[in-house]
Amino acid sequence: MTQDRNGAQDDARRAGGWLRIDLDALAANYRAIRSHVGPDVAVGAAVKADAYGLGVERVAPCLHRAGCRRFFVATFQEGVALRPLLPADSAICVLNGPPPGSEADFPRFGLVPVLNSLDQIRRWAALQDAPGRPPCLVQLDSGMSRFGLSEDELRTVLQERLLERLSVSFVMSHLACADDPSSPRNETQRLRFETLRALLPDLPASLAASSGIFLGAPFHFDLVRPGYALYGGNPVPGRSDTMRPVVTLHAGLVQDRWIAPGDAVGYSARFEADRPSRIATLSVGYADGFPRRAGGLAHAVWPERPEIALPIVGRISMDCMTLDITALGDIPLPAGTAFELIGPHCPLDALATTLDTIGYELLTGLGQRYHREYIESSL
Ligand SMILES: *Cc1c(COP(=O)(O)O)cnc(C)c1O
Repeated sequence: MTQDRNGAQDDARRAGGWLRIDLDALAANYRAIRSHVGPDVAVGAAVKADAYGLGVERVAPCLHRAGCRRFFVATFQEGVALRPLLPADSAICVLNGPPPGSEADFPRFGLVPVLNSLDQIRRWAALQDAPGRPPCLVQLDSGMSRFGLSEDELRTVLQERLLERLSVSFVMSHLACADDPSSPRNETQRLRFETLRALLPDLPASLAASSGIFLGAPFHFDLVRPGYALYGGNPVPGRSDTMRPVVTLHAGLVQDRWIAPGDAVGYSARFEADRPSRIATLSVGYADGFPRRAGGLAHAVWPERPEIALPIVGRISMDCMTLDITALGDIPLPAGTAFELIGPHCPLDALATTLDTIGYELLTGLGQRYHREYIESSL
């Protein structure tokens, strides 16, 4: 761990873009959700897709220190990678369930499958040689038609007495429209979940992810499973965000120039100056996960003058983008000057809305070339 201090600083300085991940804010968001739900409700965490692109190696242990003991990944491989990062007191649940033939590896690797289909349940129930009875979760389809048992399938499970061969920690389901609190489907799904659950013996239950948590206590059951809100995303679009931002992305200046009216910028000359314009080239492009369609739509800011939105002009290239910084006049800007792309002045959710996507997609797309800095003071 004796990394050369100057070497590390050089690495940071020489990067084209900088991703700052505030683990203190992450832990604060976990605790905020913890205190929002009742004391009897457990708060798990979705850390699939490398903790939404933020780096599961740092995120998961941080959440564990904040009190989280149940983690959700999507695939078996994600679970295997996560296991050594967490103490044995944590359950790692694999949302997509066991791929055929992998069943015996779940207890071996300390993983808990979410059983979604009759096929997955039959395969898991056939796993007789595992010592004890390894825990699982069972998913019910309350109306999303994606994962989980239908009512008919649930009745088959009961008829075949499969449930008696399982050790079910939670029955769960997932909401399709929780980000729209006015959608009647939320209540329909909740009632459907209750109806299906009533066919089973009394088991702990889980329904809500980030947005569902804010639909109120009837949606909390025994366990909530936030992801996006922990990472600073707004769980209730349209309402002001109560989560602390976790991710800040800056891009470094490579060069800048003045161009004349009629001069074009970037591939396909999609931007043509109609006045003398100062154009800055930044060292972040679509290969870094910054969407190509952001050219002409999104903006950046220079943190010294955060009130000035600097439009991204022209096409975003693989490794760079161009900003119209005419509004900064002739202020000297040395190479390496950092411009904010995501952060307090360019909020994640606002950028997502501008690009007609969701912050989830922007986070999980964040590339591997950034210099990553994790802020964690409260160790
Ligand atoms: C991804 C996921 C979550 C977390 O969702 P967020 O909206 O990020 O809070 C919870 N439950 C399931 C089943 C998921 O797939």
